Amino acid sequence: MKELEQNINKIQQNIQRAALKSGRTSEDITLIGVTKTVPVDRIKKSLHYGITQIGENKAQELLSKYDELEKLIHFHFIGHLQSNKVKYIIDKVQLIHSVDSYNLAKKINKEAQKHSIVMNILLQVNIAQEEGKFGMTKEMLYQSLYPIAQLPYVCVKGLMAIPPYTEQPEKNRGYFQEMRQLFIDIKHKNIDNIHMEVLSMGMTNDYQVAIEEGATMIRIGSGIYGERIYTNAKEGK
Ligand SMILES: *Cc1c(COP(=O)(O)O)cnc(C)c1O
Repeated sequence: MKELEQNINKIQQNIQRAALKSGRTSEDITLIGVTKTVPVDRIKKSLHYGITQIGENKAQELLSKYDELEKLIHFHFIGHLQSNKVKYIIDKVQLIHSVDSYNLAKKINKEAQKHSIVMNILLQVNIAQEEGKFGMTKEMLYQSLYPIAQLPYVCVKGLMAIPPYTEQPEKNRGYFQEMRQLFIDIKHKNIDNIHMEVLSMGMTNDYQVAIEEGATMIRIGSGIYGERIYTNAKEGK
């Protein structure tokens, strides 16, 4: 069996097991292949084994792969998004996971209006309150909910988090539980235009725990494609 196929099969089995532990099935969990630094050929191969949705974290890199893949695959934007880059990706992605301020949501609203589309977004929470990491604090999140709900070309679909990197996934269980609690709490507010359907959390090292605690969408890079090799100096574009 090929390496990619093996990796993906293993992950799908783990998804199923973790989903059962939380009273769900693998159909309740969406697997996003994180393809930063992964060449288009390899992405196409993974498509063959069931990766139909991919996440990119840089506008420039997404654009460079878009033409070759757009008919085959759905793109998600998962990285920090600068306001001046919104216009490049707005008509190319089906979900922006990483909205971390009202101002960014407002900018997305403005660009979406130009294309007459409603952009689906997740609100990113800095759940471990890590210094220098993107994402809103819980307080910011609650403050921004009502203003963001007013934006007609933006639709909030849920929440996203990136807990600290760890090789011991149990260390992040508490953060995943906190995210789930936030998700439920906001859902109960029944705010118009704020839907809590997607809880995007869990990466290669901790996705099983994330699913056990309620993740509906997981983002896996190295677990599928292998360790990332950064070739040229990372560009911020
Ligand atoms: C890189 C990245 C991932 C995937 O990380 P792995 O540990 O390789 O699975 C998931 N989410 C975001 C936002 C990322 O930038």
